[in-house]
Amino acid sequence: MEAGNSIKNGRIANTIIMPVIGIVVLAVLFVFAMLVWSSRLTDEAAVSSERMLLNESIQLQLDQIAKQQEGAAVWDDAFFRAERGLENRDWLRHHVSAWLAEGYGHSRSLILDSDRNVLVAFDRSGEASWVSEALLNALKGPIARVRARYINSFVLTPSGTYKFQPVYRNYHHSLFETGLVRIESAPYYFTVTAIAPDLHTIGSDREPPSVVISFVPMNSLSLGRLAEMSGLSSITATQPANVRPGMADVVLKDPNNASVIRLNWEPKRPGTDMLNRILPVMVILALAVAVLTAVLLNYARQSTRKLATSEAKAVYASQHDSLTGLPNRDFFNDLLKQSLASIDEDRGLTAVVYIDLDHFKDINDTLGHAAGDEVLRAVTARLRAIVPPTGTVARISGDEFAMVLNQCSSRALIEYQLSRVQDELIRPVKVAGTELFVSLSMGAAVAPMDGSGAGELLRKADIALYDAKANGRGRWSFFDPSMEEYVQTRDNIARELRRAIDNDALAVAYQPQMSSKTGKITAIETLVRWTHPERGPISPANFVPIAEETGLINDLGLWVLRRACRDAHLWPDVMISVNISPTQFRHPRFIDQLIETLASYDLPPSRLEIEVTESVFAGKDMAVLNVMKRLRELGIKIALDDFGSGYSSLSYLRRFPFDILKIDRDFILPAGDSPQAQAILRTIIDLGEALDMTVVAEGIETQEQMEFLTSIGCERLQGYYISRPGPAQEIAPVIAGSGFGDQFKIVTEQLRAG
Ligand code: C2E
Ligand code: MG
Ligand code: MG
Repeated sequence: MEAGNSIKNGRIANTIIMPVIGIVVLAVLFVFAMLVWSSRLTDEAAVSSERMLLNESIQLQLDQIAKQQEGAAVWDDAFFRAERGLENRDWLRHHVSAWLAEGYGHSRSLILDSDRNVLVAFDRSGEASWVSEALLNALKGPIARVRARYINSFVLTPSGTYKFQPVYRNYHHSLFETGLVRIESAPYYFTVTAIAPDLHTIGSDREPPSVVISFVPMNSLSLGRLAEMSGLSSITATQPANVRPGMADVVLKDPNNASVIRLNWEPKRPGTDMLNRILPVMVILALAVAVLTAVLLNYARQSTRKLATSEAKAVYASQHDSLTGLPNRDFFNDLLKQSLASIDEDRGLTAVVYIDLDHFKDINDTLGHAAGDEVLRAVTARLRAIVPPTGTVARISGDEFAMVLNQCSSRALIEYQLSRVQDELIRPVKVAGTELFVSLSMGAAVAPMDGSGAGELLRKADIALYDAKANGRGRWSFFDPSMEEYVQTRDNIARELRRAIDNDALAVAYQPQMSSKTGKITAIETLVRWTHPERGPISPANFVPIAEETGLINDLGLWVLRRACRDAHLWPDVMISVNISPTQFRHPRFIDQLIETLASYDLPPSRLEIEVTESVFAGKDMAVLNVMKRLRELGIKIALDDFGSGYSSLSYLRRFPFDILKIDRDFILPAGDSPQAQAILRTIIDLGEALDMTVVAEGIETQEQMEFLTSIGCERLQGYYISRPGPAQEIAPVIAGSGFGDQFKIVTEQLRAG
């Protein structure tokens, strides 16, 4: 059972605990992963908004530069002078470029005429050849857009002239484009602005404008301002290819999408910050979940273990007998079926044995149930010691056990096992300080000879047990088909007896009892008779036990009682005696039925005698005593039949109020010649006198027996010598003629001979 439990628990652990642990671990990991992921997302969102902020700040700076250009570019003087080109170069250099450099720090600038020829290439530090082909190439796009926008700003008026009517951005009053470029590998902000008249009215035809382009270096100063505007901490610039790990960055491009510079800054990491704050709490929570899960799982494991244990206990209890711990009837049947199912030819014989303790009832009744239990336990221990490991022993009911002996090579081996069982019980059982000798009867059926089904083998073992008991107990019988015939016959007889009772097909014979003092018939015993239609007359010694076994005895006894009460009116002066079987005597309605019968036949109870044998005392002393007292109160006499044939404990006589003692025929038989038998008879008669009981001798067959019993004072005499039992009409003359010498003798002689 233990091993089974741990396997079961192991399975529970695998099927419940492991998945639960798995789920909890996964859930915790998932929560952590989600946290890390969302903190990353938050960090990334923060960086991209910082990047946007930075871009907007750069745009603001560029817008500012463009705004500063407005003063020099949107100006009639500049417009006209630029139109006229080369001759005004110096003027333009001085009034536009130098002015922008001084006023706003546009350290370099270019002025192009409407054909995109360079009019002025200004550098505050005097550098002459800073304008490269690559630079002009990079600026091509913004210049083209400014020129296009400028041309598109002319609106044709109804008078056929063009009016310059540009659409400006926001608060600007110039047409410009902005961006970043590299000049001599340094980053510069640039703005391209169309040079336009400040009056907004241009009389001439539409023409591309001249443009002024300002370059402002992106140096630490402007980066500082950028950082201030965007609220980013310390922006640094690196070469575009130079990535700084752990820093947020943005690569700024020129109009041709070539990298100009990489700006780096320390990003804010709100997600990481949040994670750092939440993480300790989460770890504590995870630990708490782990602990809680462990506690719950442990609890679940404990309770499943308890459940498994109690289930196993319940199963065990349902299969075993609590007193002896042996398998019970149902479980035995299962085990038997199993071992029969696994039978194969080579494995030999399987014996099913029923075991019944002889006279166990007596032990229970005389020594009490505790002693009875003790005996059962002792017998169990001895049976267990004998049954081989392949066999089974079980307790079927009260004092009934059963065994299965498997794999027996021969019947001799089975017999050997049974003899060992008997031998084990030769040693007395010590119970409550006394040594008890217990014997048992056994009935065996053997597979495959006697059958292969559990039911069939059990039934046959039971029949064999019955045979063993019927043949004197303390022995064993093997099932034999003839026994089954007996059982069948018994069942047939029972069926036919039932029919005979119902059809009034039984009869009674009366046997007179004569007073040894007067020679008169003072009582007659009623004896049931049954003549079977085919089998002929059957002795009550045969069919009464069958009636007992099959539950017919009550109806049978009642039938005889009625007949006796009816016929008793034929002989008003004699007592009528009826045999009552123990089962009938203990029937709960016995007294009521008796009273009803007496009343319905109008027979005074004082004329009735009831004969019971000692076996009536098997158990239930008090109940028997109560019935006897009731009978006494009614005035009915009670006789102890067949005294001396059974246990004949004298204590019965003292404890129970018998009126009559009927000495068993076995004592009468040798009364004619055996001095010992005569001595015993004298003792019994003295005992009867001492206890104030009428003593009846039955089975008197000879004159010597009658004379001896008369001589020692036996009060009533019964037997073939006086009269055989006979039907009422045959007995009537015996009664009528009794006590009248020869006449009586003639009649009785006829009957004796009959
Ligand atoms: P029992 O009550 O001891 O009856 C006496 C038996 O001895 C009767 O046998 C009777 O015929 C027989 N008997 C009488 N005198 C002599 C004799 O001189 N020599 C010999 N050898 N036998 C003699 P029966 O009628 O065969 O009855 C046998 C037993 O059957 C009875 O023994 C009684 O125990 C039982 N029995 C008979 N009738 C009834 C009945 O109506 N109810 C019950 N419960 N049992 C009955
Ligand atoms: Mg009798
Ligand atoms: Mg008798």
